[in-house]
Amino acid sequence: MDKISLRRNAIANIASRKSEKGIGKEKPITEIYGENVFNLKTMKDYLPKPVYKKLLFTIKHGTALDAEIADDVANAMKRWAISKGASHYTHWFQPLTGSTAEKHDSFIEPDLEGGVMMDFSGTSLIKGEPDASSFPSGGLRATFEARGYTAWDPTSPAFIKSCDSGAVLCIPTAFCSYTGEALDKKTPLLRSMQTISYQAKRILKAFKADSEGRVVSTLGAEQEYFLIDKELYYARPDLVQCSRTLFGNVPPKHQQMEDHYFGAIKDRVLDFMSDVDEQLWSLGIPAKTRHNEVSPAQFELAPIFEELNLAVDHNMLVMEVLRKTAEKHGLICLLHEKPFAGVNGSGKHNNWSLVSPDGRNLLEPGHNPHENAIFLTFLCAIIQAVDEHADILRSSVASAGNDHRLGANEAPPAIISIFLGDQLTDVIEQIEKGGAKSAKTGGAMRIGVDALPDLPKDATDRNRTSPFAFTGNKFEFRAVGASQSCAGPNIVLNTIVAESFDKIADELEKAKKEDFNDVLQQILQNIIKKHKRIIFNGDNYSKEWEKEAAKRGLPNIKKTPDSLKAIIAGENIEMFKKYKVLSKSELHSRYEVYIEGYNKTLLIEGKQALDMTKTIIIPTAYKQINELAKAIAGLKSAGLKAGTEALKESMEKIASLIDDISDSVDSLDKAIKKHDISSIPDMLATLRKYVDALELEADDDLWPLPKYSELLFIY
Ligand code: ADP
Ligand code: MG
Repeated sequence: MDKISLRRNAIANIASRKSEKGIGKEKPITEIYGENVFNLKTMKDYLPKPVYKKLLFTIKHGTALDAEIADDVANAMKRWAISKGASHYTHWFQPLTGSTAEKHDSFIEPDLEGGVMMDFSGTSLIKGEPDASSFPSGGLRATFEARGYTAWDPTSPAFIKSCDSGAVLCIPTAFCSYTGEALDKKTPLLRSMQTISYQAKRILKAFKADSEGRVVSTLGAEQEYFLIDKELYYARPDLVQCSRTLFGNVPPKHQQMEDHYFGAIKDRVLDFMSDVDEQLWSLGIPAKTRHNEVSPAQFELAPIFEELNLAVDHNMLVMEVLRKTAEKHGLICLLHEKPFAGVNGSGKHNNWSLVSPDGRNLLEPGHNPHENAIFLTFLCAIIQAVDEHADILRSSVASAGNDHRLGANEAPPAIISIFLGDQLTDVIEQIEKGGAKSAKTGGAMRIGVDALPDLPKDATDRNRTSPFAFTGNKFEFRAVGASQSCAGPNIVLNTIVAESFDKIADELEKAKKEDFNDVLQQILQNIIKKHKRIIFNGDNYSKEWEKEAAKRGLPNIKKTPDSLKAIIAGENIEMFKKYKVLSKSELHSRYEVYIEGYNKTLLIEGKQALDMTKTIIIPTAYKQINELAKAIAGLKSAGLKAGTEALKESMEKIASLIDDISDSVDSLDKAIKKHDISSIPDMLATLRKYVDALELEADDDLWPLPKYSELLFIY
């Protein structure tokens, strides 16, 4: 089928398509929830009591699994998995590619009588050895010694992934080299959780608050995505290859009317969403909210927050379930940060907080001056951390896709700043003015003595343009890209905040009991004086802010390659090393992998644009010229003059666009051949400008690529 018929057929098929019937719940949600998870309830049913108790201890304290019980646990897991139809198991891990990886092994073991038994040993549970030579390691592991191993992380429960023809037991694991270097995203995430827990507990202890047990980081990751029809998708080679459109004009009506956001959800999409929710619930993922987003064809899914490590695993599964379920419904789920130019891109709001050992949210202002003081200390620590390390925080969300959001005129910009809201900013200003007893200017707040005013938690009060916003009892880091793993940003967040806690704890621990409040007041006052430049409550998208931020000396790093340099900056290497989150070689390996990923993405986009221009776009322009030539000849043979000039003008416009396009193709081609990566984004933009102009001139019946008006509206 030629391309034009492909486009036309797709539209006709979608128009006549009946909605995929939702599977319909056979069981109540309370029964579905967690049915595919080897959770505490299931463990209790399947394990002897002493074994269960030991495993519970391991999970609660994040310690290593007692080898003595490994066989019992493995056996129980196997029996449970087989009862769920599983034939295989896999160590499920998160390599530096940013996705997840799995290699299935079946449970079968020959019984030496010509048959098989189903077997799964403790050693297979605890440790796996995938042949990992093809995963990017950034030089951490030469190919000839490619072995890496995966180790079970019992704090994230095993689960079952199933499809119509079978099921597999997935064991969440960390992935390391034989020399102990982290080859994945989970290992440093777990390390960062330990580090922040340790330092946060020092602060709590200084306040004489409960500090037995762990301080836990929490995460609620709101996931944005696009859905488009599968048939239209297959008629767009750029979407298939690059997950984003390299060409295309927004139609006259797109998101200006703001009628899609929170609008009534189409039946076909609702069927898809219901299917997704049910699968997520069965995996024990607390999917809570679903709605239409700002751009047409854009949606969001938000879960209830969980312990960070689990929430990161769960977000990886959310992305997978979204993709797979979309296909089942004849749709494609696009997680790219910017699949369509001119309308909103997709992010992932990273809601982050800390919970004390006694279960209190440490970013909750609290109910009395003592709790307020703890809250303000944590708040100021975060202000200090974000200001001192804006560069590394920015680098944690750097990617080719996200460059189209950050620094462009939408979504939180590449300038990292903190939104506190008016009331909290006022408190901060009072602390700055107030200080110790001596300087008691009007309205100053004395920490540990005065109570905080009631802070609003109302959603309408929130500034949606801030990259890092305090939203009542948590921070929302909004610069994370939709397709990214949340591990990276949270590793950075935990580490920089841990460092800040460390500095504060050093001083508080030295303070005499009777001076405690004064010392604290002084510490916080100093932090605010030094770091208040990072606080900004205004419109982050405005040009004025860019100027103001420059005046304040805040970094504004727009492009990924520049931003990634922070990963290997001397002081950052020192910090990650000091807090035992990432070693120098682990950081260098990450830098290599991310730069390489960026370069490859741009080369692919460049080549794809060339390919489509040469084989689809330019031939269309020729056809259009031919049509016009025929029309002009027709007029001439009929002896008519009218119309000839106008047609000639069209022909000239198109002919000159062909010249512009050809020139752009030549430059892009050269840049690709020279691996001149840094020029590619601008060249792609120039080429796109001309191709998009052609789209607006060409006969719709000749245009082979589904247009934005179709991709975004026909589904
Ligand atoms: P919105 O930001 O869309 O107005 P909410 O504030 O209700 O929505 O919540 C957004 C996300 O933040 C949800 O995933 C929610 O579970 C999560 N969240 C709420 N409290 C916390 C917390 N203490 N730690 C981490 N995430 C949280
Ligand atoms: Mg939000």
